[in-house]
Parts: sequence; C-alpha cells; structure tokens
Amino acid sequence: MSIFKHLFNKSEPQCPRCLGKGFVDWDDIRRLNKVLKWVPAPCAYCNGSGKTTKEMLANVPVDMTYLTIDLPESEIEKIKNGDIETLEKGKQKELFLENLIKYVQDHYLNKNMTAEDIAELYLRTESENAQFSIERQNLIQYIRQIIELKKSDLN
Ligand SMILES: [Zn+2]
Repeated sequence: MSIFKHLFNKSEPQCPRCLGKGFVDWDDIRRLNKVLKWVPAPCAYCNGSGKTTKEMLANVPVDMTYLTIDLPESEIEKIKNGDIETLEKGKQKELFLENLIKYVQDHYLNKNMTAEDIAELYLRTESENAQFSIERQNLIQYIRQIIELKKSDLN
C-alpha cells in the first residue's frame, strides 16, 4: 500500500477501543471492563487517530490492559508488531494488577484493614524479585480507589 493510498484510505476500520473518538473515556473503560486498570486518556490502540488497521486488530486484543498511552513508544511498537516477549509482559502486568486488586479486596472485606495497613502488609510480603512494583504513595492511593469501588459495590 502506498503512503498516499494509506493516508486517504477511508475504509480503515474504526478503532474499537475508543469507538473512533481518539480518546478513551469512562464509558469506554466501563465497557471494556478496565475500571481500576485504566484512567481516561488519549487512546493508545489508535494513537488518538480513531482509526486502526486490520493488522492491528489481528495482532493486538482491543482490551489489552498493558497497552496504554503512557508506555514508551518503542514498547508500543513492539506490541503492535506482535512481539511475543512484550505481549507476555503485558499479560504478566495484567495478572499483577488483578492479584493486587484481589489482595486488597480480601484484606479489606475479611480483615477490615485500612488502605495504609494493607499497603504496609503488601510491601512487607512482596517478593524481592517481583516483576512489577508500585511506589508506596501510589500504592496507597491505588488501594484507596479499590476500597472505594468495593464500598460502592456493596451498597
Ligand atoms: Zn482508539
């Protein structure tokens, strides 16, 4: 495909992540089940253009949690090219978040702990060679969000 044809190709599929807006908002986040994992931001799936390609649709799941606009450009390129190692890292990151969310919910519901206490316990028991980690202050903020959401679920 020539660059010209590419630029003017109106048949490029609409981005299924942001529905063509170029921006992922709370409606998209809820639709894709990414509450606690994403915040509203320009869309990384289409790089804010609202359009995507068949290759992209084939290579990258629309709801891939790891693919966000704050990743380095080189990492985004690797994802788009279907780099196995990077895709695996993305899966691990998603698992990390899911486990953390579960951990917080369990400790909040069963032990009635505060965000600070949960963060302390988590950091104390975190494996030294964990692949991902969150800084204490950010962790406490994140735990607060998880608890708030859990509270609103319970009401
Ligand atoms: Zn998009």
